[in-house]
Amino acid sequence: MFFSTGSAAEAEARARLCASRLRILSSAVELYNLDHAPLEMTELNQEELMKAGVLSIHLKCPDNETHDYKGSGLTKESLLDGTGISCEIHGNLKKIGHLLE
Ligand SMILES: [Zn+2]
Repeated sequence: MFFSTGSAAEAEARARLCASRLRILSSAVELYNLDHAPLEMTELNQEELMKAGVLSIHLKCPDNETHDYKGSGLTKESLLDGTGISCEIHGNLKKIGHLLE
């Protein structure tokens, strides 16, 4: 395997880490919703997820420590197709989920 010496490889590694965090958050909201139906979480709230025991730590993008992940108007569909939760820098799972494959 070829390892690039430039920062492109590092940037992709951070994007992949971001994608894995988006996936963790998406799964956490799905777990939360299973326990709280019909009061499902429509706005991403990591503190609430932690209180419910479905998330262990507050997650942030490795490239963006100052801004939280965004998730507004969450639905079962948007969690499933990867458009529900997004990073200001990398976008949503629909865009960067392929990095995890
Ligand atoms: Zn990101």
